[in-house]
Amino acid sequence: MKAVVFEEHGGPDVLQYTDIPEPEPKPFEVLIEVKAAGANFNDIWARRGMPGMKVIFPHVAGSDVSGVVRAVGSDVSGTGFGSAKVEVGDEVVVHPGLSCRTCEMCTSGQEFFCRQFLIWGFQTGPNDGGHSEYVTMPAANVLPKPANLTHEEAASMPLVLETAWRMLVTRARVQAGENVLIWGGVGGLGVMAIQICRLFGANPIPVVGGAEKVARAHEVGASDVIDRKTEDVPARIREITKKVGVDIVFEHSGQDTWPTSIAALRWGGRLVVCGASTGYEAMTDLRFLWNKQQNLLGSHLSSKAELAAALRAVEAGHIKPVIDHVFPLAEVPKAQTLMEDLKVQGKLVYVP
Ligand SMILES: [Zn+2]
Repeated sequence: MKAVVFEEHGGPDVLQYTDIPEPEPKPFEVLIEVKAAGANFNDIWARRGMPGMKVIFPHVAGSDVSGVVRAVGSDVSGTGFGSAKVEVGDEVVVHPGLSCRTCEMCTSGQEFFCRQFLIWGFQTGPNDGGHSEYVTMPAANVLPKPANLTHEEAASMPLVLETAWRMLVTRARVQAGENVLIWGGVGGLGVMAIQICRLFGANPIPVVGGAEKVARAHEVGASDVIDRKTEDVPARIREITKKVGVDIVFEHSGQDTWPTSIAALRWGGRLVVCGASTGYEAMTDLRFLWNKQQNLLGSHLSSKAELAAALRAVEAGHIKPVIDHVFPLAEVPKAQTLMEDLKVQGKLVYVP
């Protein structure tokens, strides 16, 4: 079968569209024919290499797929798929958080604290990710594809959807009427964050770069949009919030935006962070932290239950996929270059 494989760290030129053996499901797994796979920044982090994180070679990246179950392992019980049993022919998406499912953390609904927790397609391998024609996945990690979405649409959502959902709903506990500053406002995470804020009655304030992205942010549902290329971001935040500051900051940029994020928070505000794409050595002015009694919250992916809740909001039409472009699987290198140049609005999707 075809897959996009790399055997060393480097630029997009290390990616090879090539043949690898088709995987066989273990007793607790299902075999999925991939109809569409999503692109995420962790595909690029794995390719470039990250200090302190082992990437297993040969590596197939990709943490989001939508597809059809083609085989079911002998030990698969009914508990992985709502109340029904996963069966051959089912259309599914996957929750990419792999964990032991039996430890104290897993059984208390905190699977991301499991000592065996791994993000599928990022930390797993060899040759075990979504940029491929077939994948195997524990039955406990598959969920029904929302019936109102195509495979391309469904593959664009789970990782960013569940990450943004946990950040805003579970960790920051977003409330109606609150102002939420969203960095990377029309990126994959940003377009989910805007829609989750709207669903909960909050006011999303995405920060974007350029007039085209301002227009897209309005389309996705934001009224107050800040263009960092032409506007003074702190001044616009003061104006929009009537000098109060924002209730929540949605952070995944890190070093470059962190000082602005801290300064933008209102007294008692919450800053929630799930990544640091511009660098992780950020400066925090501790005077803000204690005087204003700010709350700094870390967040990492979500539980399967949080993804299931978010997918119900998708199926009800409250949250919609935002796809920039669909590429043939062979064009992963071209797509990753667009992502690295920040030329993408919403998500890119690959079709085998
Ligand atoms: Zn566990």
